Amino acid sequence: MQSHSLPQRRSAQPPAALPDCHVLAAMRVLLLEDDPAQRDLLSAALRHFGVGDLMTAGDGWTALAHLAAMPFDLVISDLRMPGMDGIEFLHRAAGFDVGAFAIVSAAEPAIMSAVENALAEHGALVLGHLSKPFSLDAVGALLGRCDAVLAPERRSPLAKLAFQSDPSTLQGALNAGQFEAYYQPKVALDDGRLLGVEVLARWNHPDAGLLAPTHFISAMEDNALIDQLTFQLLDQALADAARWGDAPIDIALNLAPHTLEDPHLPDRLLAMVRAHGLAPERITLELTETAMARHPQRVRDCATRLRLRGFHFAIDDFGIGYSSMALLLSLPFNELKIDRSFVSSLLTSVKARTMMEAMVALGKRLGMQVVAEGVECPAEMRMLRSIGCPAAQGYLFAAPMAQDGLLRWIASLPMPSSILPPTH
Ligand code: C2E
Ligand code: CA
Ligand code: CA
Repeated sequence: MQSHSLPQRRSAQPPAALPDCHVLAAMRVLLLEDDPAQRDLLSAALRHFGVGDLMTAGDGWTALAHLAAMPFDLVISDLRMPGMDGIEFLHRAAGFDVGAFAIVSAAEPAIMSAVENALAEHGALVLGHLSKPFSLDAVGALLGRCDAVLAPERRSPLAKLAFQSDPSTLQGALNAGQFEAYYQPKVALDDGRLLGVEVLARWNHPDAGLLAPTHFISAMEDNALIDQLTFQLLDQALADAARWGDAPIDIALNLAPHTLEDPHLPDRLLAMVRAHGLAPERITLELTETAMARHPQRVRDCATRLRLRGFHFAIDDFGIGYSSMALLLSLPFNELKIDRSFVSSLLTSVKARTMMEAMVALGKRLGMQVVAEGVECPAEMRMLRSIGCPAAQGYLFAAPMAQDGLLRWIASLPMPSSILPPTH
């Protein structure tokens, strides 16, 4: 398993497994800190761990000038600064080519978590925060998370070239078979069984490298290309599944609203699944609350017909939308996936924990499978277990992987396949 030793977000934590020094040495890091002594201290700590390409700035405008000039893998920023404060800087910085952000501050953890959540809502990748005064271990722990959080496609923005995502380029990429199914495991929290994998799209761009869904999914949804992508990914997953071994591993597929509005979808999906000798009960279709936005009746009909044929449904990103509850009421779901924003606040917010408890209880009362998304550290996993959450997904267990990586990961599982790290 790749991420057993992920650090926790609290200050008293064991040193994390660091990414290998090639990764750190190749990373370009920008540090924004107005206090010269603190700046020198953190710079020295980053260099100590092997960060090779480090730029520093004493104020937000200088830092933004660096960002405008070149891409960065990691931007670390203080929050309280004269002039442009860290919050304004981070919001501006989120518009540039940045792999991930981290915060260093003396502010209370709840404030730093709020800033992290706001950044994540803007689509930025957030590595975590360092509380001042920080220890060398805490800096090491933060850098240790680069490996897990900076997925390969985000790890080297330096290699990324400008690329187009207009409809004809996307259609060309679909025709050329440039999209690849990546798989992220979903595990049972009681005994660590591998329950299934979620299919996540990646674009193998010939020039720009591996691209994450933020670069193409919404453009595809706007242009009705999403159906073709969905069928291509399901086809790959069904073919790949033949090599996953004897134990049944379910496949979860994200469905865009447009796809669910097609009255031919139920028969088409059934034919695809049967052609690979799989039962439709092994396929879970994941929907978010946007599913019902345009044609609720069509979507309801289509979903009901898919359920009649045996397919399972999961409600995705549960808890963050305005109408998660309404969606839950209107469609026959089998599984509830609790959004990762609740998991990431679990250790620092009593409110998030209480809401998590309520959502887990709700799902169980409704007879649904409940999955916590985005579990990144053992402490989060332990708390979810104590709450009674039955299943989880997240970098702690494995990041999304291509078929080769998944096969290696499955082969590395101990027998019987309990993949959970030690509970103490
Ligand atoms: P999602 O369905 O909620 O998928 C989970 C996302 O969380 C994935 O991002 C995954 O890489 C990321 N993730 C998993 N574990 C962790 C963790 O421990 N920490 C953090 N910070 N993140 C974690 P990804 O692959 O970038 O996908 C983003 C979104 O794009 C997906 O969110 C889904 O809504 C959409 N998407 C991906 N593939 C497809 C697709 O084939 N079709 C459609 N319609 N949407 C897709
Ligand atoms: Ca999903
Ligand atoms: Ca989700």
